[in-house]
Amino acid sequence: MNTKEAQIEIERLSNELNHHNHLYYVESNPAISDYDFDMLLNKLIELEKKFPELVSETSPTKRVGGDITKKFTSIKHRFPMLSLGNTYSREEIIEWETRIKKSIETEIEYVCELKYDGVAIGISYENGKLVKAVTRGDGNSGEDVTANVKTIKTIPLQLKGDFPTDFEIRGEIFYPINSFHKMNEERRENDEPEYANPRNLASGTLKQQDSKIVASRGLDCFLYGIYGVDLPLNNHYESVLKAKEWGFKIPVVTEKYILKTKSIDGIMEFIEYWDKQRESLPFEIDGVVLKVNNYDAQQELGFTAKSPRWAIAYKFKTERVETLLESVVFQVGRTGSITPVANLKAVQLGGTVVRRASLHNADQIEKNDLYLGDSVYVEKGGEIIPKIVGVNLEKRAAHAHKVDFIKHCPECQTELVRREGESNHFCPNEKACPPQVTGRMEHFIARKGMNIDGLGVETIDQLFQAGLVKNVADLYTLTFDQVVNLDRMADKSANNLLQSIEASKQIPYERVLFALGIRFVGETVAKKLAAKFENIDLLAQASFDELVAVDEIGERIAISVQSYFSDELHQQLIEKLKKAGVQLQGVKKEFLSNKFEGMNFVVSGVFSTFSRDELKKVIEDNGGKNVSSISAKTTYVVAGENMGPAKLEKATKLGVKILSEQEFVNFFK
Ligand SMILES: [Zn+2]
Repeated sequence: MNTKEAQIEIERLSNELNHHNHLYYVESNPAISDYDFDMLLNKLIELEKKFPELVSETSPTKRVGGDITKKFTSIKHRFPMLSLGNTYSREEIIEWETRIKKSIETEIEYVCELKYDGVAIGISYENGKLVKAVTRGDGNSGEDVTANVKTIKTIPLQLKGDFPTDFEIRGEIFYPINSFHKMNEERRENDEPEYANPRNLASGTLKQQDSKIVASRGLDCFLYGIYGVDLPLNNHYESVLKAKEWGFKIPVVTEKYILKTKSIDGIMEFIEYWDKQRESLPFEIDGVVLKVNNYDAQQELGFTAKSPRWAIAYKFKTERVETLLESVVFQVGRTGSITPVANLKAVQLGGTVVRRASLHNADQIEKNDLYLGDSVYVEKGGEIIPKIVGVNLEKRAAHAHKVDFIKHCPECQTELVRREGESNHFCPNEKACPPQVTGRMEHFIARKGMNIDGLGVETIDQLFQAGLVKNVADLYTLTFDQVVNLDRMADKSANNLLQSIEASKQIPYERVLFALGIRFVGETVAKKLAAKFENIDLLAQASFDELVAVDEIGERIAISVQSYFSDELHQQLIEKLKKAGVQLQGVKKEFLSNKFEGMNFVVSGVFSTFSRDELKKVIEDNGGKNVSSISAKTTYVVAGENMGPAKLEKATKLGVKILSEQEFVNFFK
């Protein structure tokens, strides 16, 4: 294929992928299977590798991420990105509407919209191509987050239809509530601190340096404000509808996410409706936004120093109650992390009775400056557990005691530690701290892990108290007599439990790996590790380099895995599990040959006939090992085009042989 042909093919594939992406994410009406989509995308990726000079900045391959933003540069907004005036009062909305009627003589239309609780974004398009995405910042200039925004699938990279040649569209990037809960569930499983609310998570995600992480997170976006010099329409509402034709995801008209009205009654109905219905939305809103529809009228009304006169935001009141802080308890998690929890005097909030509030960590307690017996304000946001947002200082008793963060584990009295850069305290007595031991067991037997039925929290506690089970491997040596003598056990339930333990020996290796509860090794990571390291011994011996060379395994996980296996007690545990017959190896991979046995390869650069992953697979299928960086132990560097000069220098210095793509192929043959 020559360059000209390649260009035509790349364009064709890009158009097709853009079309299907739009059908899938914006219209929710896919026309091809995920598999077929991936096949098309792979074709494009391969072509772009062969013709890197033809890669466009708006290629659908940018969606998968990979571009790294070292520093987010500041960019001045072409049109200032002002925030809106806010009010909580319906009277003020009436006053606002009256003022507008006084200054504009013609009949006025208003557009009512939802106030999405996310991160405001301005995206510029030139000739139908996405060129820049900038956050609000201080309103005059914001941060360039283009590479990250390109990974959000509902934002078009290439427009269709009769779009203006040069304009900016604004909207809000947010985290759907479902994905937010899923994310936090995963963090709970890994015993990591949870994200406070979807908005924080959205803004944190948008500021990730690695766009691949952004791509994996599932951010979404509504776009609803068009700015430019020569816009085709003279009002806001029609412009938004028009933007849909260009490929944007706009607020849904049929579900009343956006509504046009001429009267204050229409506005009030909209406010009333969403104040009641907002809980049913798949994303968070914190109010509604009202705008004058006609652009000329907007211009006539103009701006105050801070915000436009033609728009206003009505914010819903967050329900806040005052109650008594009775005590603070400290919970110990499976990995020893300490979570402070406030016990409150029971109070009604948002339709439920609230008795507890999460305090997250020591910094949070310090920030709230809490004293026992304080009268505290409690709110419920996107979180499942409500939080304390302030203290009524007037009600503080004269001799109240400040809430101190404990120095010793409440369960085993070991002195707590706080690792550098982490916000949580830990109990380091991993081996004997009861909630850690039983917590690990609960994690081990859970459905996603070893799926052992008939073994509840209470039974685990009993087994532990009775000294029958000190670690998860001991489960496999339990006898009928030991089990049947526990409280609330009968012959039948004891038999069921033993059968269930026996059946867990068939659980595949990747799930066993997850069930072990290695810090930061959740389901997905366990799968990746199991796919890469065929058995637990290979994983236990893996070097840091080999670990980080695995897709999606970062330094943090690599360190955690290494420290897990370097612990003698864990080594003994693994041996016991092996003896018990638990699956600690995957399905054996047959090497095609052992030609590369004992050799370490570093694959670097861009290749013409292979993709990098294909090359790595050839190496592995023939017994070789891929490592990520060049050292004296490296046997060969397979160098494609654009290999970095630093790598080249290092290889030369250490005397490591360098193979070109062709040399590798010859060598292999
Ligand atoms: Zn402890």
